Amino acid sequence: MTTLRMRLAGTFLVLASLFAVPAFVQAQAVTQTAETQAALTPQAALDALMAGNERFLNGTMYERDLTEQVSITGAGQYPHSVILSCIDSRVPPELVFDQGLGDIFSPRIAGNFVNADILGSMEFATAAAGSKLIMVLGHTECGAVKGACDNVELGNLTQTLSNIAPAVYATQIEGPRNSQNAAFVNKVAHNNVAMTVQNILDRSPVIAGLVESGDVMVVGAMYDVSTGKVTLVDAD
Ligand SMILES: [Zn+2]
Repeated sequence: MTTLRMRLAGTFLVLASLFAVPAFVQAQAVTQTAETQAALTPQAALDALMAGNERFLNGTMYERDLTEQVSITGAGQYPHSVILSCIDSRVPPELVFDQGLGDIFSPRIAGNFVNADILGSMEFATAAAGSKLIMVLGHTECGAVKGACDNVELGNLTQTLSNIAPAVYATQIEGPRNSQNAAFVNKVAHNNVAMTVQNILDRSPVIAGLVESGDVMVVGAMYDVSTGKVTLVDAD
């Protein structure tokens, strides 16, 4: 005879299975330790970031005790990922991926390109500190990309923007090739991400070796400033 309690228990099990999250996606915030970092694959690190962006989009971010995370991470850090992003105030990676203290290395530079110093920082993050994923995160409506599209010259910014110029030249599109053409700007930003991913592999034998051995993955992604959504950029 089926009791109400049994039926309720059965319903709960069905609901639980419907809402079950894959094993690689943590159901609550976990402060990274040597053990949790070692247990992650590069794909699991990527899945954790994309799941975090889903929480950000849905307004279901984890509640974190940052003070507790300070004490847990005080003796050492074991971040799972490196996210190279723009300085744009609308794209703070810890927020848009719902990450806490000790979760990600976060190099930022206008136009999210790489130079020797940023490559060195990425080599530290992966080869020395054990991170499994490098993500290059561009974004729509990027002021640095717009500046590069318009050949803006201003002090040291001229040199900064010259790093984005190859993506400007490589971008084919109908219509004006300046910042007034939003489609052009966003396509340049997209190409800049893909070219930066390739630059990392070409200019860092250390990282290329880690990718070859399967210890690290390098991916590109775009953040839409009007929606908050991150979309992976296919490697061309
Ligand atoms: Zn930007």
